[in-house]
Amino acid sequence: MAAEILDGRAVSAKILDLVTKDVADLGRKPVLATVLVGDDPASRTYVRMKAGRCAKVGMESRRIELPGQTTTAELVARIRELSDDPSVDGILLQHPVPHQIDERAAFEAIAPEKDVDGVTRTSFAMMAFDEGGFASATPGGIMALLDAYEIPLSGKHAVVVGRSPILGKPAGLLLLARDATVTYCHSRTTDLPARVAEADILVAAVGRPALIRGNWIKRGAVVIDAGYADNTGDVEYEAAAERASFITPVPGGVGPMTIAVLLAQTARAARQKK
Ligand code: NAP
Repeated sequence: MAAEILDGRAVSAKILDLVTKDVADLGRKPVLATVLVGDDPASRTYVRMKAGRCAKVGMESRRIELPGQTTTAELVARIRELSDDPSVDGILLQHPVPHQIDERAAFEAIAPEKDVDGVTRTSFAMMAFDEGGFASATPGGIMALLDAYEIPLSGKHAVVVGRSPILGKPAGLLLLARDATVTYCHSRTTDLPARVAEADILVAAVGRPALIRGNWIKRGAVVIDAGYADNTGDVEYEAAAERASFITPVPGGVGPMTIAVLLAQTARAARQKK
């Protein structure tokens, strides 16, 4: 295997050490409210992991669990309460929500100053205009990982596969802001192998195990695999690692970085409120 591993666990541990110090300096426990609707086992696990990490960095996690048949109006009302609650610093609505819920309406009930997962239109616009604001957590984590390994982005061709508003789309915009030339691919893209083969930096954000074959990857490319389904990433790992210069493992790559950014942004929200 030729590629160097982009070790999200190690990099996120360093970020979380800084967050721990930040929280200690704050002199109070920041509060992250996590909202889980329904009982999807994977979502439950993610929320539990986030709560566990909160405790480790000295934050309080307030877990709100709502039944699977919750309506959009009920969820929006609950999130608005959290937005108005002065004791809450950050709000995370675990995605995806059950199909009857208008997810966009629920995200928009999060006050922008508490949008530590970076899911609201306000956060998206601030990111797109390069005006600070909270980054969407997973794309923010991807950028932090690339920076930790000092991977040059300016002038590189970045290909992002996936265009969801919380992952693919913002990942491309953050790369664009760093002077990469960005191509987006999605379910209607024709000749995905050819597009992937053009990538100096590939971000896979689909959720289809091994959709991207190793032999599509350009030699020396940097491969970031954000996909996670059936314990597997979007990229055929072993074959891709033979050709890439850097690659994220799944798990242990993008996932831990997402949590680190979420908590770093929660600490920032608390500091800004102080
Ligand atoms: P999503 O909303 O379902 O979006 C998937 C994207 O993939 C869509 O843009 C879709 O295109 C595109 N797509 C689907 N089939 C395709 C194909 N055959 N070829 C090219 N593109 C295709 O998913 P998401 O929320 O962005 O999440 C994507 C993956 O990232 C999932 O595996 C999720 O579990 C993972 N994820 C990981 C983290 C983490 O912390 N590691 C965080 C969030 C998400 P269209 O737009 O045309 O439908």
